[in-house]
Amino acid sequence: MQINNIPVVKDLVLIGGGHAHVSVLKRFGMKPVPGLRITLVTRDIHTPYSGMLPGFVAGHYDYDGCHIDLGPLARFAGARLYHAEVDGIDPENKRVYAPGRPPVAYDILSINTGSRPNSINISGVDEFALAAKPIDIFLRKWQQLIERVCDSEGPFRIVVVGGGAGGVELALSTQLHLQNTLRDVGKDPERLHYALITSSDSIMHMHNRGVRKRFERILAERNIGIKTGTRVNEVTANSVRTADGALIDSEAVIWVTTASSPGWPSQSGLAVDTEGFIQVDEHLQSLSHKNVFAVGDAAELRDPRPKSGVFAVRQGPVLAHNLRAAATGKTLRPYRAQKKFLGLISTGNQYAVASRGNWSYESAWLWTMKDWIDRKFMRNFNELPDMEQDDNPALAAGIADAEAIRELSTLAMRCGGCGAKVGATVLSRVMQRLPDTQRDDVLIGRDAPDDCAMLSVPHGKVMVQSVDYFRAFLEDAYTFGAIAANHALGDIFAMGAEPQSALAIATVPYGRERVVEETLYELLAGALHILAPTGSVLAGGHSSEGAELAFGLAVNGLIDPNKVWRKQGLQPGDAIVLTKPVGTGTLFAAEMRSKAKGRWIDAAIQSMLVSSQQAAACLRRYGATACTDLTGFGIVGHLIEMTRASAVDAILTMDAIPLLDGALETVEAGILSSLQAQNLRLRRAIQDIEQTSKHPVFPLIFDPQTAGGLLAGVPNEQVGACIDELHVMGYSDAVIIGQVDPLSDQQAPIRIQ
Ligand SMILES: Cc1cc2nc3c(=O)[nH]c(=O)nc-3n(C[C@H](O)[C@H](O)[C@H](O)COP(=O)(O)OP(=O)(O)OC[C@H]3O[C@@H](n4cnc5c(N)ncnc54)[C@H](O)[C@@H]3O)c2cc1C
Repeated sequence: MQINNIPVVKDLVLIGGGHAHVSVLKRFGMKPVPGLRITLVTRDIHTPYSGMLPGFVAGHYDYDGCHIDLGPLARFAGARLYHAEVDGIDPENKRVYAPGRPPVAYDILSINTGSRPNSINISGVDEFALAAKPIDIFLRKWQQLIERVCDSEGPFRIVVVGGGAGGVELALSTQLHLQNTLRDVGKDPERLHYALITSSDSIMHMHNRGVRKRFERILAERNIGIKTGTRVNEVTANSVRTADGALIDSEAVIWVTTASSPGWPSQSGLAVDTEGFIQVDEHLQSLSHKNVFAVGDAAELRDPRPKSGVFAVRQGPVLAHNLRAAATGKTLRPYRAQKKFLGLISTGNQYAVASRGNWSYESAWLWTMKDWIDRKFMRNFNELPDMEQDDNPALAAGIADAEAIRELSTLAMRCGGCGAKVGATVLSRVMQRLPDTQRDDVLIGRDAPDDCAMLSVPHGKVMVQSVDYFRAFLEDAYTFGAIAANHALGDIFAMGAEPQSALAIATVPYGRERVVEETLYELLAGALHILAPTGSVLAGGHSSEGAELAFGLAVNGLIDPNKVWRKQGLQPGDAIVLTKPVGTGTLFAAEMRSKAKGRWIDAAIQSMLVSSQQAAACLRRYGATACTDLTGFGIVGHLIEMTRASAVDAILTMDAIPLLDGALETVEAGILSSLQAQNLRLRRAIQDIEQTSKHPVFPLIFDPQTAGGLLAGVPNEQVGACIDELHVMGYSDAVIIGQVDPLSDQQAPIRIQ
């Protein structure tokens, strides 16, 4: 993100929202480095705090209580948040790769991606076991396991593979939760049988003898059998096979073996140890690439430490200092890993065992202390302070090298003049990088650039045109470009037309040439990602540099003039269908104030990326009488347009309106889009406004949408099959939200029920 129009001089990319990176984000938010742009690429938007995971499984914490929400944290840090799983880097060209988006350029890279339980070469683990990580998959399978246990009759055997602290904690906490659940549903908890298998000679082999003895006793008291010195080498649907060939019956397997590293760091050419962990020095810098840092489980120090969240947490402040120093040419600080650390290992039932060096202890009070420490840690990241903006920030000292200073001085002259076009070389490089798309009826397009694009309209067709343009509400230019394209195409689909071509108009913030190039490329690549599958081509466009990122497209579509859908055409008796949920206006207003949960915004983005092309085809098959796409005027504004044009009234069923997750919470918190007040003026089009305005969903029928769904009238006898088909096509929220009524003598055309 550009801090108050300070140009981006360097890019810091953080991969993974692990325990150290959350601290880095917080610290950069408290003290930004003007000129340094931060990008967080993360697989999970809500990152689990490992210390509280067993407590979550046992039922002591809810999801938000033990996950750090990277959405607001990234915004606090002024960082771009890319929801993607990295599968490689190119350290020579300084690029990060993640499927589904363009490579992310960096000057400085930091990796905090954790580890996964080792299951390499063990057949059946992915298919049948619940691996402790990745956590979202574990949690999904955990819910399924709870259901299976509840539905089952007779003995249910669970094998936990892995005898470290994680395995022992998960055995104890899952057992407690499942026993309680069985009791709650009136079933016998004694049907559950647990066994813990480890290849080590003892459980908790990284801890002292006292800790091991305590846990042997606790596991025995809880009827959890222990099998040490036993390696599992196959998991099936109903058993595990050990290395000596024995089969152990199991209805479920929980996999918590030693940490392993994914292959991509070594395949990318980073120096790694024999296990594939990234080798770092005392400054947490890669041994092979000085501009790459790695921490937590993903890294291996010269003087190795156990793979434990404690170390990742402690590395956070040192890493933050060193990333800042690396960006500004200052001295790095060494990280000195503690030899002994206090481990508080829970037993599931609000009781814990302490372990430090050769010392151990156990009590309920220790769990209370652990709970207090963990909650305090979480507050640090989930309750963020309001920061004052520096109105006159200057570039951070030391961030710009000689080349950057030279480029920035020419930039100052450029900014002093009029809004300039993006340089021809930048533009032509961007065009070369974009995939080529062509159509026979686009006679002159990007492949043969000229003053204009030249299009032909096939015989029997007419051309429909629309244009949309807006300021970026996302820092992720690729996703923003894709949403803008989808938003623009909505008009074409709403007319029932087939998209043919688009012209893009982009305003990219002033900046260094490579930054401008990257941003422009990302915008256009995002737009193409949406345009190409619809069969339309990007035929040309215009780009300029300006104060802030903005993007839009003029889109063309082709249609038989006799088949054009208009807003007019609704017939009394038609059902009113909406194909996507609403709430983008309030959610993004909340996001700007750091009041939206990351998962709400993520889901809203996914919804905005859903094309309406297939929905339009489906509505056509079921005889839709009129159609529009839901955008800035909200449901009421668009429905008024349709009812007026069709000379009908409409009944809106408030409870049927599909909502994006979190939208109700944000409107209830009083957070509304800046367009809401304008849209609300239309409330006089609603009958009995006093009564209906009390409904909690009421504000959302005025909520402006970006890339919203299609709003259409469908004959009543066809609508059931139409909705079923929309669901099959993936429009899972498509629903009837009302009915068309004959025109009445009421002044207000919309009645709410
Ligand atoms: C059941 C259990 C209990 C545990 N209890 C404790 C405990 O009480 N105390 C303790 O100190 N340790 C505990 N551990 C160990 C602890 O989980 C790890 O050591 C710790 O999570 C490592 O932290 P990290 O910051 O390196 O990575 P993580 O916390 O694993 O974070 C990694 C982050 O990177 C993201 N990510 C991963 N891969 C990619 C990718 N390719 N691209 C983009 N993003 C990616 C993930 O989404 C995640 O946000 C426990 C482990 C288990 C399994």
